[in-house]
Amino acid sequence: MEFETHCEAEAEVPKEPPKIHRLDESVVNRIAAGEVIQRPVSAVKELVENSLDAHSSSINVVVKDGGLKLIQVSDDGHGIRHDDLAILCERHTTSKLSTFEDLQSIKSMGFRGEALASMTYVAHVTVSTITKGQLHGYRVSYRDGVMEHEPKPCAAVKGTQIMVENLFYNMTARRKTLQNSANDFSNIEDLLKRFSIHHINVNFSLRKHGASGADLHTVGTSSRLDAIRSVYGVSVARTLIKIETSDNDPSSSIFKMNGFISDSNYVAKKITMVLFINDRLVECTALKRAIEIVYAATLPKASKPFIYMSIVLPPEHVDVNVHPTKREVSLLNQEVIIAKIQAVVESKLRNSNEAQTFQEQIVEPSPSGNIGIIKDSSFSSSPSGSKSQKVPVHKMVRTDSLDPAGRLHHYLQAKPRGPLENNPSLTAVRSSVRQRRNRKETADLTSIQELIDEIDCNCHAGLLDVVRHCSYIGMADDVLVLLQHDTHLYVANVVNLSKELMYQQVLHRFAHFNAIQLSDPAPLSELIMLALKEEDLDPECNENDDLIEKITEMNTELLKQKAEMLEEYFGIHVDVHGNLSRIPVILDQYTPDMDRVPEFVLSLGNDIDWEDEKRCFQVISAALGNFYAMHPPMLPNPSGDGLQYYKKRKPLKNPEDEENTSNNIEDDVTIEEEMEHELLSEAETVWAQREWSIQHVLFPSMRLFFKPPASMATNGTFVQVASLEKLYKIFERC
Ligand code: ADP
Ligand code: MG
Repeated sequence: MEFETHCEAEAEVPKEPPKIHRLDESVVNRIAAGEVIQRPVSAVKELVENSLDAHSSSINVVVKDGGLKLIQVSDDGHGIRHDDLAILCERHTTSKLSTFEDLQSIKSMGFRGEALASMTYVAHVTVSTITKGQLHGYRVSYRDGVMEHEPKPCAAVKGTQIMVENLFYNMTARRKTLQNSANDFSNIEDLLKRFSIHHINVNFSLRKHGASGADLHTVGTSSRLDAIRSVYGVSVARTLIKIETSDNDPSSSIFKMNGFISDSNYVAKKITMVLFINDRLVECTALKRAIEIVYAATLPKASKPFIYMSIVLPPEHVDVNVHPTKREVSLLNQEVIIAKIQAVVESKLRNSNEAQTFQEQIVEPSPSGNIGIIKDSSFSSSPSGSKSQKVPVHKMVRTDSLDPAGRLHHYLQAKPRGPLENNPSLTAVRSSVRQRRNRKETADLTSIQELIDEIDCNCHAGLLDVVRHCSYIGMADDVLVLLQHDTHLYVANVVNLSKELMYQQVLHRFAHFNAIQLSDPAPLSELIMLALKEEDLDPECNENDDLIEKITEMNTELLKQKAEMLEEYFGIHVDVHGNLSRIPVILDQYTPDMDRVPEFVLSLGNDIDWEDEKRCFQVISAALGNFYAMHPPMLPNPSGDGLQYYKKRKPLKNPEDEENTSNNIEDDVTIEEEMEHELLSEAETVWAQREWSIQHVLFPSMRLFFKPPASMATNGTFVQVASLEKLYKIFERC
C-alpha cells in the first residue's frame, strides 16, 4: 500500500531536471572568500604573512571584538606602489608569482593573490601605505574587490596599515556563530606567539582596541630560546631540549630540521606543536602524530609535549597548494622525513632521561654504554586498587587470575623506581648496576651486553627495513596482522613478533624497570598450583595431587630464595608473604594478559638454570617475553565464528511454558543471561584492547626498537603476500 501512495505522490509532481544557471559573480566570490577567511584569526594570519613578505621588522596588531569589529595590522615593510592600488584587491593579483612554474620555487608566504580580495568580499577594507622615498602615503577603501574611490594622499611614516572592519557583515550565519565564541582573541594571540618564536628578529605586538597596554609584545632577539622564554614563559623554556637533524641524500630525502622539544618535566593536557616548513606556519598531522607516538612510548607521563620545529627543504619538494588557506602542506618523501625526525626525537628523549636520572643518582658514567633507562614518570599518589576511576578501554585488564570468568579492573601504573623514592637502600641497588664494585657484578653486565650484541648481530637487514617503515593495515585473523611496506603487502605473526620484541626490551631495560602494581597480589604457591593443574592430563588421579603439592612447595621455596634478584634485575616483586605483587613495565602503556601469570610463574620455577648466569638471564627474559606477548586472549574472539561460543548457551524459551514458569526459574534465566552478556562484553573488551595495543603500542615500538632476527624471514613470521608491481602487471594484461 505504502508503495502505491508513494507512486501517486510522485506522479503529482512531475520530476523534471532542475535548470542549471550561472551563479552571480558576487555570490561566487563571497563563497570563495568564506573559504579563505574562515575566522578572524585566518584574516590576521594572511595580513601578518603579507607584512612578513614585505620584509617588515615590526608588526603591530589591534583587534576589537575578537576581530569581528576590527582587525588592524600595521607594518614597516616596503609598502605598496601607488599604481598597484587599483588592482590590489582584485582576485588573483599578486606580486609573488607570475607563471605556474614559479609555484615550484615559491619562497614567500603568499602567492595566490586571494587574501586581500577575499577580505573585501566579506568586510570593509582600508589600506594606507607609503613606499620608500615618497613624501606622503595613500589611503584607499575597497569593497567587493574594487576601490571605492581614488587613493587619497595621507600622512604616513613607513610601510602599510590594513584595516579590516565588520568582518562577515554580509554573512549573517557565520557572524552569529562567531559572535558566540569567546576564543577568537586567544586564537589570534596564539597565532602571534607562534609567529614570534620563529621570526625572532621581528617585533610583534597585539593589543585590544582601546586598551592601553599590549597583550603580547615581543622584542627582536638573536636567541630562539630567549624568544620562547619571553613568550611561553620560563616554565616551558626550562624543559626544552634542542634538536636538529638533516639529510642530503637525493634518493631518500633532502631536508634540514632544527627545533626544541620538551622533556619529562613538561606536563600539559594538550600537545603544542609550532611547525614551520620553509618559514611557513603550517600543520602536518602525520608528523604531529608521529611525535606523539614517540613521547607516548618514551615519556608516557609527559606525553603531550611542547614542540617548536622548523623544517627547510627544497621549495619544489613542498606542495603548498593543497589547502585553501595554505595551512596543511604535503611534502615529497614525507614518510622518510618523518621517520628520521622520529628517530632523533626518540634518542634525545632517551638521552635526556638517562642523563637526568643518573645526575640525580650521582653515578659515574659507565663506559659500557647503553643498558636501559629509568622512566622518569611522576609518582601516582592514588592508592592502589582505586577502581572507581574511569579508565580508558585499552588500560583495563583482567586482574584476578584465579577467577576464571575474570573481572575487569585496572592496574595502576605504580610508582616507578625513580629518584623521588626516598628509600636509600633501593636507590643504592639501582645505581649499583652502573657502579659495580665486585667482579661478579661486573660480569652481570657483560652477560647482558653479550645477549644484546647477539640480537644486533643476528638482525636481518631486510626485515629491519620492513619493520622501521611499514604501516599497520589491520588484523587478518587472531594472530596474523597485515602490514604494508613500500609496494609490498605482508602478513606477520603478532605472537612471534611481540614475544621477541618483549624479550629484547627486557634486556634493554634490564634492572631499570618501572613497576605495574597488582591490585590483588597473588600467592606464588596458588599460582604454581593452578598452572600445574592446568597442565595435568589426568586431574582425577589423586597420586598426582601429592606430586603437584610437592612441586608447588619446592618451586615456591626456590622463587622465594631468588626474590631479591628477580626484583633487582627484572622488577618482579614477591612480597614477604610470598605474594607476587609487582611485575615490570616492558612497553609503556601495555599490561600483559593476567591469565598467563600462572604459566609464567611456573616457568620461572621450572625452566631456569640458576647456575649459569647468562643462560639464567636469557631464559627469564624469554619467559617474560612469552608472558607479555600479545597472544590471542583466552576468551574466544566474539567477532565472527567465536560468537557461537557465547550464543549457543542461550536457553531456548518455549512460549507455551511461559505462563507456568515460576518466578524462580525466570530469575535463573535472567541471571544466566546477564552472565552471558557480561562474558560477551568482557570478551569484546579484551579483544578490542588487544587490537588497540597491537596498533598503538606494538607497531610504534617495533618501528623504534625492534631488531628482527634472521630466523623470522624463513619461519613464517613474515610472509610477503602481494606486491603492487606484480598486481599492476596482471592488470596490464587484462
Ligand atoms: P598574495 O600574498 O598571495 O600575493 P594578497 O592578496 O595577500 O596575495 O596580497 C596581494 C599583494 O598585495 C601582495 O602580492 C603584495 O604585493 C601586496 N601586499 C599585501 N599586503 C602588503 C603589505 N603589508 N606590504 C606590502 N605589500 C603588500
Ligand atoms: Mg598574502
